[in-house]
Amino acid sequence: MSRIAYVNGQYVPHPEAAVHVEDRGYQFADGVYEVIAVARGALIDEEGHMIRLERSLDELRIARPMGRPALAHIMREVVRRNRVVDGLIYIQMTRGVAPRDHAFPANAETSVVMTAKRTKPANPALLRDGAKVITIPDIRWERCDIKTVSLLPNCLGKQQAREAGALEAWQVDARDGTVTEGTSTNAWIVTKEGEVVTRKADHAILNGITRIAVLEIIARQQGLKFVERPFTVEEAKNAREAFLTSTTAFVTPIVRIDDALVGDGKPGLVAKSLREAYLVHMTEQAAEQGAAA
Ligand code: PMP
Repeated sequence: MSRIAYVNGQYVPHPEAAVHVEDRGYQFADGVYEVIAVARGALIDEEGHMIRLERSLDELRIARPMGRPALAHIMREVVRRNRVVDGLIYIQMTRGVAPRDHAFPANAETSVVMTAKRTKPANPALLRDGAKVITIPDIRWERCDIKTVSLLPNCLGKQQAREAGALEAWQVDARDGTVTEGTSTNAWIVTKEGEVVTRKADHAILNGITRIAVLEIIARQQGLKFVERPFTVEEAKNAREAFLTSTTAFVTPIVRIDDALVGDGKPGLVAKSLREAYLVHMTEQAAEQGAAA
């Protein structure tokens, strides 16, 4: 089946989907993006993604190209035209096309690109055995809370992880040795005392929509406590459990950090139960949207 992309007002065959060479996204990485999971045809945590998208645009003073209802319509149309049942939507908005000059153009129009694709279910071996992460210095800028397409340090880090046979690289603040986040995921540990720890959503990390959903799940779950604070690599290596979260990885257990085994080297119970709860959260949203359709 041929894929369809949305580019600035038009639905076009994916191989022909293109923007101008002077689009500021291409020239300066002057743009933002979102990735939204689709489960059983439903958009997961749509509102959270829209809030974050609008915030990213506002922080960079990129004009919002359309209101939420228009965007919601296009997202559903892209999902429908690509016949995506389980997969994801990619949205990118840039400051638009203008003669190359670092300062903002006077009257460029925000470019909007959207694609959707099917994804395969998670690798069962990864969930059974757990993932490995490496640690690398965090060399990014000081506004990692903005979801910009400027992802070069993240790409370098992910490649380093690949070459080390790891799923992810945890970026470390050189000033204090604390873990900020993964290259495309948020970082979590469970201490020996059973407390779930993840960094506060400050300017050092992207406030993951999955991170927010998991914090809400923990808040509702009896007997599970969480604290939002930084943790060091040493603390993570000595933790009972570690895991990561993202729109595409959901909740994925981590069993090795660099050369240290985490806990007993097997996926932890808290990570497993949070993954289960997160899958329920997705199923519930799909049921609600199915009922509304
Ligand atoms: N941190 C970074 C740097 C990311 O790129 C992502 C995924 N886009 C995340 C965290 C996780 O965010 P989310 O749960 O919204 O996918």
